[in-house]
Amino acid sequence: MHNSGTMRREIEEAWLNQAGIENSMGRSRPRLPTPPVVKQDMASPKKAPLDISALARDLRAGHRAALARAITLIESRRSDHQSAARDLVQILLPETGKAIRVGITGSPGVGKSTTIDALGMFLIESGHKVAVLAVDPSSARTGGSILADKTRMARLSSSEHAYIRPSPASGTLGGVAAKTREAMLLCEAASFDVILVETVGIGQSETAVSDMTDFFLALMLPGAGDELQGIKKGIVELADMIAINKADGDNIRRANAAAAEYRSALHILKPLSQHWQPPVVTYSALTGKGIDTLWQKILDHRKAMNASGEFATRRKEQQVKWMWSMLEQRMMARLRSDSAIRAKVRKIETEVADSRITPARAAEQIADMLK
Ligand code: GDP
Repeated sequence: MHNSGTMRREIEEAWLNQAGIENSMGRSRPRLPTPPVVKQDMASPKKAPLDISALARDLRAGHRAALARAITLIESRRSDHQSAARDLVQILLPETGKAIRVGITGSPGVGKSTTIDALGMFLIESGHKVAVLAVDPSSARTGGSILADKTRMARLSSSEHAYIRPSPASGTLGGVAAKTREAMLLCEAASFDVILVETVGIGQSETAVSDMTDFFLALMLPGAGDELQGIKKGIVELADMIAINKADGDNIRRANAAAAEYRSALHILKPLSQHWQPPVVTYSALTGKGIDTLWQKILDHRKAMNASGEFATRRKEQQVKWMWSMLEQRMMARLRSDSAIRAKVRKIETEVADSRITPARAAEQIADMLK
């Protein structure tokens, strides 16, 4: 079954096919029917090479189709695509880094889509251009992301000042996160000045999103023992703000009680920065009450981080961290893609399992193969 994200990717891939680049998203799915080619002569038709500088130019000019194609190129697994994508990001690098990058997490049902829709519209009305991206490692299994789904952000998805892109549907968490990070850079080059990166409250995806954003927002529900869950999962430690959604109607009292609990929980945790004590706020994505406060806190944080110099430091540290993460992935990709290496690694694995060599010696042998 097609969801809207899959269909869109197929259309973009068809564009890449025309530009001499074939389907390579690493997922099995039906190919689009090939349009009939009218041959002028017997020579095989030459495909036009992908013009990276034209793509960069169109993207800089804010053409949404160019942005979508560029992200599809980044998500591709083919090594020539990856090399073209690296060139593209390098060309666009001077135009990146200017957006406010906000990570948003919360369990399913907490109101992430409703919040992003409301916050996004609030920002657009204040003159911003908003991109919504997602990191959902489970999308590799399900074939589609439930995050950053246009149908769940009705108002935002029909705005020309918003761009919504679901999570890449392939690879490991590291791979998915790396692609989302590059997509973020492309959105910045296309002059989106607020990037909202959505993730779910499971596993390591929060750390990955917090590593690519300036501000990490944890959404919680009033009551329901959610408080303790959040603390257990370590989300609260990462959060620059805790926002309790659905503070409307009968929920207001419970939302306030939850806020008090979080405040006392935060007091016993060491804050991430000595210049920022994560606030706990209540709001309603449904009525829009408190959405302005969410944004104001994000701006206050930015101001405090700029004043203390932590903003620049955090960005620099993130860059270096990402370099290592990408290197790690490239090395792993090499181990997996080279069949001779793969066979040797399997043999070494068996030897380790049978205690014939130590894991340390095995690691050394594998590292030598990458030389
Ligand atoms: P997500 O799974 O975290 O993206 O959550 P959704 O945004 O899809 O919201 C889950 C449900 O909660 C939906 O039925 C929303 O209408 C509802 N919801 C979201 N925000 C609010 C809110 O502020 N107040 C109330 N009462 N319901 C809300």
